[in-house]
Amino acid sequence: MKPILYFVVPCYNEQEVLPVSYRLFTDKLSSLVGLGVISDKSRVLFVDDGSRDNTYAVIKELAEKNSMICALKLSRNRGHQNALLAGLMAAKDRCDITVSLDCDGQDDINATDEMIKQYLDGCDIVYGVRKNRKTDSPFKRRSANLFYKLLNAMGAETVKNHADYRLLSRRALEALSHYKEVNLYLRGMVSLVGFKSTCVYYDRTSRIAGESKYTLGKMVSLALDGITSFTVKPIRIITAVGFIIAMISFIGIIWSVIAHFVGDAVSGWASTVAIICFLGGIQILSIGIIGEYIGKIYLETKHRPRYTVEQEINMD
Ligand code: UDP
Ligand code: MG
Repeated sequence: MKPILYFVVPCYNEQEVLPVSYRLFTDKLSSLVGLGVISDKSRVLFVDDGSRDNTYAVIKELAEKNSMICALKLSRNRGHQNALLAGLMAAKDRCDITVSLDCDGQDDINATDEMIKQYLDGCDIVYGVRKNRKTDSPFKRRSANLFYKLLNAMGAETVKNHADYRLLSRRALEALSHYKEVNLYLRGMVSLVGFKSTCVYYDRTSRIAGESKYTLGKMVSLALDGITSFTVKPIRIITAVGFIIAMISFIGIIWSVIAHFVGDAVSGWASTVAIICFLGGIQILSIGIIGEYIGKIYLETKHRPRYTVEQEINMD
């Protein structure tokens, strides 16, 4: 039986891009259906992530004209990762495979052909990996490199230069649905899911229109989630540093006692103050990092819903 494919495409304030880019998805679906690779029940699922512009109206109009298009509208902006998860979970019971990608035409849609081939060869997860970062600004390129280095040093499993362009089988989606965490870093969660996986390499181009919706703040917050949701190594490092400092202080105490009895003691005001400041600094830093984790525990224990679907189009 031919698999049913759903393209899952989160959109936030994309009214300039969608009227052009939707064709990429529908044309690809039509051609794959025509070639007999996928079922004609395949769809493009747009998830409107609480856009403030006319994105949803645009999607609605497209869906009226083309029954291949269906959509979800989130009740407010919940960020790319939540919007994507909302789409994947809605697609889970309706399809055999999902391919998630940006709506701005940056991810080369032709890589989907190879992804489906890998799926038919038995892979449950196929990661889309960028060949290079030529189309990124120097700042984004450097910060991304630093981010992957940091994540690896911290021991979190990541596929380098893979963002959220990936194929997931129904089985992988089912497994993913059992992860109930609130702080989402999907590419890390998908690695945890396991199953047979592989990579497909593609060139990432510039946006068709509009500007990036990933502000610096959103990128930093994603990076923080990537680290703090997947590894406790920062706490271990702090513990190790604390241990070393304690040992040094201990030697310092012995040294000062000996100096006292030898009658060599000077009024070491400066060194005392320096040590107090240094230890104070380390302690505050430690408390800050531990606080990060406690903050996460706090949020996780709330079990808040990650999104609320407000409306549906062609979802039956
Ligand atoms: N996006 C979203 N919610 C957000 C921010 C972005 O759904 O809060 C969508 C956006 O519409 C796009 C995808 O996530 O389809 C990736 O965002 P973008 O292309 O702006 O990021 P970049 O490619 O520049 O990293
Ligand atoms: Mg993009």
